[in-house]
Amino acid sequence: MHYSKLFIPTLRDDPADAETVSHRLMLRAGLIRKVAAGVYTLLPLGLRVLSKIEGIVRDEMTKAGAQELLMPALQPAELWEETGRWQKYGKELVRLKDRHDRDFCLGPTHEEVITDLVRKEVRSYRQLPLNLFQIQSKFRDEIRPRFGLMRGREFIMKDAYSFDADAEGAKESYRKMYEAYHNIFKRVGLHFRAVEADTGLIGGSSSHEFMVLAKTGEEGIASCTACDYAANVERAETRPTKKIKGADNAIAAMEAVSTPGKKTVEEVCEFLSVEASQLIKTLLFVADDKVVAVLVRGDHEINEIKLKNFLKVTELNLAEKKTLEALTKGPSGFSGPVGLEGAEIVADLAAKAMSEAIIGANEKDTHYRHAVGGRDFKSARSADLRNAVAGDLCPKCGGTIQIDRGIEVGHVFMLGTKYSETMQATFLDQEGKDQHFVMGCYGIGVSRIMAAAIEQNHDDHGIIWPQAIAPFDVQVIPVQEKKEAVMAAAETIYKALSEKGLAVIFEDRSERAGVKFNDADLLGIPYQVVVGQKNLDQGMVELKERKTGEKTLIPVDKVIGTLAEKYSLS
Ligand code: ATP
Ligand code: MG
Repeated sequence: MHYSKLFIPTLRDDPADAETVSHRLMLRAGLIRKVAAGVYTLLPLGLRVLSKIEGIVRDEMTKAGAQELLMPALQPAELWEETGRWQKYGKELVRLKDRHDRDFCLGPTHEEVITDLVRKEVRSYRQLPLNLFQIQSKFRDEIRPRFGLMRGREFIMKDAYSFDADAEGAKESYRKMYEAYHNIFKRVGLHFRAVEADTGLIGGSSSHEFMVLAKTGEEGIASCTACDYAANVERAETRPTKKIKGADNAIAAMEAVSTPGKKTVEEVCEFLSVEASQLIKTLLFVADDKVVAVLVRGDHEINEIKLKNFLKVTELNLAEKKTLEALTKGPSGFSGPVGLEGAEIVADLAAKAMSEAIIGANEKDTHYRHAVGGRDFKSARSADLRNAVAGDLCPKCGGTIQIDRGIEVGHVFMLGTKYSETMQATFLDQEGKDQHFVMGCYGIGVSRIMAAAIEQNHDDHGIIWPQAIAPFDVQVIPVQEKKEAVMAAAETIYKALSEKGLAVIFEDRSERAGVKFNDADLLGIPYQVVVGQKNLDQGMVELKERKTGEKTLIPVDKVIGTLAEKYSLS
């Protein structure tokens, strides 16, 4: 393709409203344009990348035995009412009415539609296992759409659904998908990790997330430095730290200390010259209809999913100021467990293990020090209620946990019979008896992968596309385009490379060499062939690898063969 004919609206400067590298570079390199918050047009270059990712996903899914279909984005409310998700899904579900006033939604996921299809069409165990997938636009009215394609309100997902006759079969389907996902992300060219994950709103019994490691990732990944344990921070189990035995006797009596206006952990720590790990935070929650006081160490964060599961409640919200003040009889920022009535006190294991702590005194501008659980305040029920942090003990081997940031690009769930039971989806087994399908579901954020790949592969000059998903393979750049010989040589190389089957941009614009080089680095095509008079006089051209920045002079007649080899073309 001739650059002059291509629609690549690049931007010289960083767009003001783009916070992440990938978002900035996608706008600057002319891959996407915003239509509304979380809604984007994919420009030709962006679409080329997306198609390549789709191609890899499609290929590996098919190899793993899945078959492609295409379900509608528009879905009737009745199906969602069957599973109860019409209510449960909340505001993220994009709802609309048709001209007859009937309720519809734009699919954020397709468990309902696929289960409906399979319950109507699959009758016998002989038709199982079955794995169906699609690559399609999903709609989720995210609270905070951001970072370009990373968290959109309309985005492209590959979703697959497996149906098996029994749990054993479902496990095998899950394993196959887990393996296919490894192949997909490896082929795309990403550094990733599969981690144990929470099953959340979708339900089911086991789940793994595939995380691309990147500093800007929204997810925390806890992994062991000694063994292969890895889990989402939200899901990672934490172990109690050991209590120092016999220390209680030696601890001084609890005393009140004045902490004027010091409400946050940081403020109290600074004022009293102590570490956050010496404090206990007391947070009040309304859990269904009762109030619960939760104790966590000052340097730890409460994990609401763990807390919810522990308390066995469905609704969990931080108590409002009024509730808090009525219960603690003190202002917010100074809450503590001493003398607290009317609320159950529960503690995270690490808070429980502290021999003494600094706590709020339920009184304005006051904290207590040397507070001891069981002595100064009621001993609480305790459990693992916090997010894992770096330095924690590995729940599997006792090694040390480290925390990395990750971008979730894929998710595999074992669903069991959750959907087949609520939607009465059954088949006849060998004995002619009705059985519920055992299901799994498997998502990949196809458009998110594009953003994740850039987060992981870029430098100060622009994008560095992994070879497998680059919009083009080679950019041929003549630098003195006024000279006929240069243009002719460049065009010959361009044509020969294209004939080999490579996707090539011919930089035919009459721009200064510097502008062409900058734009080429911004676009991030893996190889640049620079054709200039001086080298040409020696029968040479320059081959630059975008990733390493390495430039080599090679004979003109070798350039086709060299590049063909890099792309394994004969
Ligand atoms: P997240 O925790 O990021 O909201 P999720 O758990 O809601 O993700 P799934 O329902 O498992 O996501 O969807 C499957 C895949 O779709 C995710 O692994 C992710 O890669 C992608 N995805 C989810 N939400 C978005 C979004 N708003 N924009 C782009 N991709 C998304
Ligand atoms: Mg989500």
